[in-house]
Amino acid sequence: MSVKKLMVIGAGQMGSGIAQVCAQAGYNVLLNDLKPEFVEKGLGVISKNLSRNVEKGKMTSEQMEAVLHNITASTDLQDAADVDLVIEAAVENMDVKQQIFRNLDGIAPAHAILASNTSSLPITEIAAVTNRPEKVIGMHFMNPVPVMKLVEIIRGLATADEVYKTIEDMTKTLSKVPVEVNDFPGFVSNRILMPMINEAVYTLYEGVATKEAIDEVMKLGMNHPMGPLTLADFIGLDTCLYIMETLHEGFGDDKYRPCPLLRKYVKAGWLGKKTGKGFYEYA
Ligand code: NAD
Repeated sequence: MSVKKLMVIGAGQMGSGIAQVCAQAGYNVLLNDLKPEFVEKGLGVISKNLSRNVEKGKMTSEQMEAVLHNITASTDLQDAADVDLVIEAAVENMDVKQQIFRNLDGIAPAHAILASNTSSLPITEIAAVTNRPEKVIGMHFMNPVPVMKLVEIIRGLATADEVYKTIEDMTKTLSKVPVEVNDFPGFVSNRILMPMINEAVYTLYEGVATKEAIDEVMKLGMNHPMGPLTLADFIGLDTCLYIMETLHEGFGDDKYRPCPLLRKYVKAGWLGKKTGKGFYEYA
């Protein structure tokens, strides 16, 4: 099966990036969110990214227009009635994702593949609410999507081989590198990354060092491009907390308990860069 038309659900940080790279690869993309203003915000981010590419001479303004022309705004899930693929990038919450997949299963054509960009939630559990679990798969893009090469492709328990192959091939057309991973909490990327971020938050919570010092140690000492607390702000502290809760529940092991300070920040609405304040402040 070849993918021509697709829908991206969620026009936030990840959804807008996924829509951009798909449109740049020539796919016909519907960008869906709950309200028109949310889709507009996502489209604004895409325009800004593309304009930067034009300024840097990486693309012409005609090419930019062609990319934008490939994206259509949507606030109605019924628009998925003629797509070949859906990539869901709504919030990291199992109830929300299952409701979306249940609805999509009744709307998308029988041949359509339903993918989730979840950072940690079990693909098998999302697939179980549909009547096509063999066509449900994880496509875990990295942030920022236009820049990062990796896409973790997660096979649910029932994911069919031909569905895996279609998604692997499609990912390569986006100039990304697919890596095959099985369905366990946090997959590979976040099973390793998030406990490190959570430990950095504990280090701050216990007063071992200032936030700047913690980030500096990891940047200069481990050669990480950014410190773990800066990275957490960039990912979104709500997303980090959801992932730690998924690891904690999924493995039943207290080594994954989320740091109380992370919970406190999320409760305060300090979600990182996207809300202007997390461990650091953003203009
Ligand atoms: P975000 O908060 O920036 O965006 C989420 C968007 O989904 C919002 O615009 C929201 O309005 C929309 N939404 C919520 N419910 C919806 C529904 N029922 N239908 C349509 N749209 C809906 O979040 P994000 O950082 O883009 O994360 C999205 C997904 O990508 C999550 O599953 C997250 O775990 C995953 N992810 C995030 C990162 C990261 O670094 N932030 C990296 C990889 C994967």
